[in-house]
Amino acid sequence: MVSHSWDFLFCQLPDRDRIEEVSKNIDQNGSFVDDGKALLHDKISAEELWACTSCNACTETCPINIDPLSIIVELRRFMVMENSEAPMELNLMMTNLENNGAPWQFNQADKLNWATED
Ligand code: SF4
Repeated sequence: MVSHSWDFLFCQLPDRDRIEEVSKNIDQNGSFVDDGKALLHDKISAEELWACTSCNACTETCPINIDPLSIIVELRRFMVMENSEAPMELNLMMTNLENNGAPWQFNQADKLNWATED
């Protein structure tokens, strides 16, 4: 099991801020009233989402068995599949996979050219 400080846990997910916000909402209204905010973009920016290295530390050390990494992966999947919102480098790599069958920008037939170059 990987151990990390609590500051490192949930490094991408602003859970504590959201819990405080929901708590204030309930205090003010008596019960939770939908604030119209979505997890993606309102609470977690695309930059934060793509900054996750998938190290799985947050999942391994979560005291209440939440799996933040699966949420992050599903949000990324949603962004790519539904909104075509992937970082430019990733879009380029996926285009190359489609066209060349490899992540690089050259044809598969040319992949051994390096061996004969001077
Ligand atoms: S899996 Fe992502 S969110 Fe979880 S601790 Fe690692 S870098 Fe942070």
